[in-house]
Amino acid sequence: MWCPEAGKPVIKFNHCQRSIYGFSVPERCPLCQQSVHWRKLEEAPVSISNPFTNGHREKCSFLLRPTQGTFLRDYDGRSDLHVGITNTNGVVYNYTIQGVHRDEAGWEQSVSIPLLQPNMYGLMDQWDKYLEDFSNSGAWLPHRYEEDHCNCYSYTLTFINCVLSTEGQERLDKNDFTEKYVLPRTRKVSKYITLYRAIEEHGFHVTDSPQPEASTP
Ligand SMILES: [Zn+2]
Repeated sequence: MWCPEAGKPVIKFNHCQRSIYGFSVPERCPLCQQSVHWRKLEEAPVSISNPFTNGHREKCSFLLRPTQGTFLRDYDGRSDLHVGITNTNGVVYNYTIQGVHRDEAGWEQSVSIPLLQPNMYGLMDQWDKYLEDFSNSGAWLPHRYEEDHCNCYSYTLTFINCVLSTEGQERLDKNDFTEKYVLPRTRKVSKYITLYRAIEEHGFHVTDSPQPEASTP
């Protein structure tokens, strides 16, 4: 479902043997100016799945967002990212130089990675208590913060590792976590942002021939 914080919905349709992306279906094809009607199913508009979710609606998830601004407006592929973890009510726990924050707003345009596998749902009952106790431990006081070693990543990763070890699973180091979870998402986000901004600038965006694309009818 579309939520305003996630930007405008992007749709794709095929015409003139091209894939055309826009924020709405135009009455005329921007390439040939013919009025568009969908005689063939493969030409019909589909919506492109949006990589963002409202983090405050996610339970027990790892969230990423730019430290400054939002993905769609400000992210350039290299911007610093801030990370946090949601409790079962969508409160986002995150660690900065001021200590642990419990945010009830500000994570509306996030990338979300669920941390509970279907076989771990027993943990959900304990989750809020674990997260609260973990955050109150002396390790995350403001004066312990260090840009390179003791930051928002180490806070979330240490929590994830506590959960994993409770479940008898192997710990992740920062590189494993980044490779496995973070990079695939930020790559997808960068692609989507490029497309989104091209539509904002030109009204539509065209690519050669229909190409396979993650989409939902
Ligand atoms: Zn056309």
